[in-house]
Amino acid sequence: RAKDLGRGITVEFEDAFDVDTKVQDRLEHLLRQTLAGNGIDVAYQPLVEAGSGAICGVEALARWQAPDGTCYGPDMFIPLAEKSGLIDLLGMQVLRKSVAAARHWQGISLSINVSPLQLKNPAFVQNVLDTITDAGFDAHRLCVEVTEGVLISDPEQAQRAISGLKQAGVKISLDDFGSGYASIGTLRQFGFDRMKIDRSLILALDNDTNGGAVLNATIALANALNIPVTAEGIETEEQATLVRLSGCDELQGYLFSKPVTAAQLSAFYFDRNSTKTA
Ligand code: C2E
Ligand code: MG
Ligand code: MG
Ligand code: MG
Repeated sequence: RAKDLGRGITVEFEDAFDVDTKVQDRLEHLLRQTLAGNGIDVAYQPLVEAGSGAICGVEALARWQAPDGTCYGPDMFIPLAEKSGLIDLLGMQVLRKSVAAARHWQGISLSINVSPLQLKNPAFVQNVLDTITDAGFDAHRLCVEVTEGVLISDPEQAQRAISGLKQAGVKISLDDFGSGYASIGTLRQFGFDRMKIDRSLILALDNDTNGGAVLNATIALANALNIPVTAEGIETEEQATLVRLSGCDELQGYLFSKPVTAAQLSAFYFDRNSTKTA
């Protein structure tokens, strides 16, 4: 009967909705709990000079092991943190932990990822500067990575925050360039110190016949604007060679290193330095 059928369908949708909300609420609760316990972890992925292969920086990447033991990826918990108003707390926790760790890695930069929502917080710039001052971390060694989303949703507020950081010596990088819609005007206006070419353009090298031409054109555009370029997601020697030839001066990807713990990076870093002086 049509009536029963209709009811059946309704019930199904309601069930699905309920489950979804319950899962969301549960995860939000767990994330809140982790944040309260200062439990967000940070992994560090090296950035290397295209010419020498030497480490010139690290990117801090948030990691979350929930109290029930499950590890979630940032592609899941960052949107959750944004939705539930926890992103400011999460972002500052990542910053605090990573400046404390990177303080010991002399001579290399520290990049952190910042959500568009964080830039909208009027206290953001001051919070960042206070945190690095407290840690004794040099502002010139910090690089903030923003995505194109920032430029579209609230350009004036984003511009204010970016200017404030730049005035203090912090570098600003445009992350995932080539995955969205940033116009040439926007690239000029914001005065980015660096652009990171999105991994999709690197993947296109293997998959699309015109992948190389698109990559070259993208890097040429950045070069024309005098903005240095990092290629992310480099997994093969072949890709590394192609991006070097196109004019990238900095590379990042599994070919060089996966994201590692602070302890692993410290061990590597001090090992290398002590070998040098020995
Ligand atoms: P992203 O900033 O573009 O970071 C690069 C992502 O690519 C990282 O994933 C990294 O582990 C991964 N990756 C690096 N090299 C390779 C490679 O050679 N091959 C492949 N397949 N992947 C590679 P992850 O750590 O899962 O982070 C995903 C995204 O989550 C980041 O993309 C960033 O947008 C966001 N995110 C991570 N940590 C934070 C954070 O603390 N705050 C904010 N707001 N966002 C964050
Ligand atoms: Mg990034
Ligand atoms: Mg990126
Ligand atoms: Mg990305």
